Amino acid sequence: MISISKLLCDVDAEGDGLRYDAAEESSKPQIRDTKQQRPVVVWNVTKQCNLYCDHCYAAADTETASGELSTAEGKRLLDELADYGVPVILFSGGEPLVRNDLVELIDYAADVGLRPVLSTNGTLLTNERVQELKDAGVAYAGISVDGLPEHHDAFRGQDGAFEAAVDGIRTCLDAGLKTGLRYTVTRRNADDLEAIVDLLHDVGVDRFCFYHLEYGGRGSDIVDIDLTPEERREAVRQLFDLTLQYHDSGEDIETLLVGNYADAAYIIEYANEKFGTDHAREIYEYVRQNGGAPAGERIADIDYQGNVHPTQFWQGYSLGNVRDRSFPDIWEDESNPLLSALRNREKHLKGKCADCAYRDVCRGSSRLRALTVHDDIFAPDPQCYLTASERSDPTPVESGRRRIDTEWALKPGQIGRLLSVVGNTTTVSMRNHTQSSWSVRSRVPLRRQKSNYQQLLLFAFCLLTSSHSIMNTRRWLAIWARLSWCEYNVRRVKLHCQW
Ligand code: SF4
Repeated sequence: MISISKLLCDVDAEGDGLRYDAAEESSKPQIRDTKQQRPVVVWNVTKQCNLYCDHCYAAADTETASGELSTAEGKRLLDELADYGVPVILFSGGEPLVRNDLVELIDYAADVGLRPVLSTNGTLLTNERVQELKDAGVAYAGISVDGLPEHHDAFRGQDGAFEAAVDGIRTCLDAGLKTGLRYTVTRRNADDLEAIVDLLHDVGVDRFCFYHLEYGGRGSDIVDIDLTPEERREAVRQLFDLTLQYHDSGEDIETLLVGNYADAAYIIEYANEKFGTDHAREIYEYVRQNGGAPAGERIADIDYQGNVHPTQFWQGYSLGNVRDRSFPDIWEDESNPLLSALRNREKHLKGKCADCAYRDVCRGSSRLRALTVHDDIFAPDPQCYLTASERSDPTPVESGRRRIDTEWALKPGQIGRLLSVVGNTTTVSMRNHTQSSWSVRSRVPLRRQKSNYQQLLLFAFCLLTSSHSIMNTRRWLAIWARLSWCEYNVRRVKLHCQW
């Protein structure tokens, strides 16, 4: 999840602690506790649902499915998850409220130290049921509303589903249960985005989770109504703008994006454009430490029969079954090819993801979409909307480094010495006339373009930084010559200094 309100407006909310405090502290390993390393677990307690939604990742049905984990099996599982240090358990379905023992299971989860949250279509939430859930310890209810009434009802396969869901939201809010919206954006409902935020804000909702469509379950049957990358970029930008508008009006709302980690890169670009590099750099730190797409690492799913999946959307592949092996056993078994692939994805990403400068904040986004569309788990995410120039020449925000330009760096009296050139990264050590020294890493993006001016700039840079040593001058000249002969040129010299 990417919290827009936290990153753009610095509005803290519940859950940001788990998402970002861990990130802030992650440079101090001794401070990270077990809960920051364990996955959030989604448990689809049933496959049964009273609705039949077009995009249901669980491919839920109106009939009871056989083989559901029993109450006793569920409690054993909850014990296991609590012992393992899982921080949050998300009760989902199907529609979890069709299970008669749901309150009992939630109560048990809270007792053993898990934080139970609920994902529901909202239509079965009576006053009595909500009070029971709250008393049992539900910390949060996420209710699905996929657009204004016409679109929501069509999506959910039932007239009146919108009104029932909004009634459910009101019931939760009246009972004092923190409640938020879950909205999956497609071409059918993208135009409703602003209206639905305004409408539910008037009802009292202040938390809005926007899901990108994942191509799992019935979601893989409606790829044709998914947004194009350009439309997606526009929708995400609209959400950024909307969050800022609310913030500027003094009525903060919490907005989150789920399911497309190109958003983590785009929010950096957006912040740079709106607020400048310092703010963009702070966001970069948060999202990089937060770890990008979480599948198989920071989120896990257990289905109604006990099969473990890398995320709730990846129902078609089981990593193992908790009836046969313990959850920790399954989760830590990296001999499983899918787990291993997801946890080492950076090494294998292909196409534009392989070369992307934002790979460390995004980590290739959805591997499930890549697999569904390209039949290749390491292919690029088809729903990445970053431009080619953003991917190759991102906002300069690297961790702990301060960007300075060449002219500024090489003031009279400053000298530099080349240490190495690896790929397109040049490392130089520099000293100024006061003899204080610091190391400089100069990232020199190489482009196939011919510009005499840029060649000259590089040449001058080589001479200046090597002026204290004939050896280094020769080395620099050799490099410059090599670059020129290869018809590569330096488009811009960026120096990232760390001191
Ligand atoms: S190109 Fe790949 S790694 Fe880069 S932002 Fe897009 S999806 Fe993420």
